Amino acid sequence: MQFIDLKAQRERLGSKIDDALLKVVNHGKYIMGPEVTEFEGMLKEFSGAKNAISCSNGTDAITMPLMAKGIGRGDAVFVPSFTFAATAEVVALAGATPIFVDVDSKTFNLDDESLKAGLSLAKEEGLMAKAVIPVGLFGQPADIDAIKEISDEESMFIIDDAAQSFGGTYKGRKVGTLGDATSTSFFPAKPLGCYGDGGAVFTDDDELADIIRSIRVHGKGDHKYDNVRIGLNARLDTIQAAILIEKIKIFPDELEKRQVIASLYNNALREVVGVPNLGNDVTSAWAQYTIVAEDRSAIQEKLNNAKIPNVVYYPLPLHQQTAYRHYPIVGGKLKTCEYLAQHVMSLPMHPYLSPEDQEKVIEAFL
Ligand SMILES: *Cc1c(COP(=O)(O)O)cnc(C)c1O
Repeated sequence: MQFIDLKAQRERLGSKIDDALLKVVNHGKYIMGPEVTEFEGMLKEFSGAKNAISCSNGTDAITMPLMAKGIGRGDAVFVPSFTFAATAEVVALAGATPIFVDVDSKTFNLDDESLKAGLSLAKEEGLMAKAVIPVGLFGQPADIDAIKEISDEESMFIIDDAAQSFGGTYKGRKVGTLGDATSTSFFPAKPLGCYGDGGAVFTDDDELADIIRSIRVHGKGDHKYDNVRIGLNARLDTIQAAILIEKIKIFPDELEKRQVIASLYNNALREVVGVPNLGNDVTSAWAQYTIVAEDRSAIQEKLNNAKIPNVVYYPLPLHQQTAYRHYPIVGGKLKTCEYLAQHVMSLPMHPYLSPEDQEKVIEAFL
């Protein structure tokens, strides 16, 4: 049994992948070839965002909007501490200060009360509150309306880190349209993954989109050798775009399959452990199926004995990690982040998990 089965998907796509790869290899436009534009069109259509800008990975996809907004030294950017390191790393790289915020114990996403408390902490630290990066952890979009209400008071910019939640929805709106900018990742294990590194930024703001397109290619101006700002080399490879064109075609079907599997887990495990809680009118992309267990090690032992793959995302919140320990944290302690790091674990979750395998996972709990 696989924790995430990329081979089954590759078998399903079969010669479509072979053909897509060969086409690029033969036409030779390896950088910014026609498949990149075609895939960006598909991303726009899928998300409903006005602009979809493909890029090198999900980390650069957060970095570029920060750079475009000129966020840097003296600025505070609020990030949840219970997330993958990239969410806070980009803030520090931009020269700004990440302020760590607690998460909600039900959704595991940015807690709006903690964010509110963070505003006064920023002032105490002498920092300007400039942006907030909510994360759609494990596939569920964060409560963007509650976050927006707070961020609007300070005119803060919202970057929705949707590396895990692309494909989810919030109150009928699709991920890609929730933040002022949205970033996602096509790392192979994400819900929509390529065969290497890839990512995208979404925004309805045309001016911002133009700046991000410039940053993506070394800050280019009207032509390639007139650079008007400091940028990055952050393009998506044509080969990855060609693969993603085939994968996004089956993505809606894969999302449905993930939902079926999540519902089955929910029904079978609800009485035994803490199963995922979705907010009102929210759908998840089910990047992970993550449970909360009072006695996690006992469950890990049961699953390991039954040879069922299981992983802890994440064993340490960022504010307790060596690289991030010195940054400010709201309220001096992030109770829920610390609790979750001690008690969560993720079960096998992918569209190709067979009913027999899923039954095995469930039986291991009983
Ligand atoms: C994977 C991930 C990223 C980074 O994406 P990469 O493509 O690996 O750079 C950022 N944020 C979150 C929440 C992620 O899960």
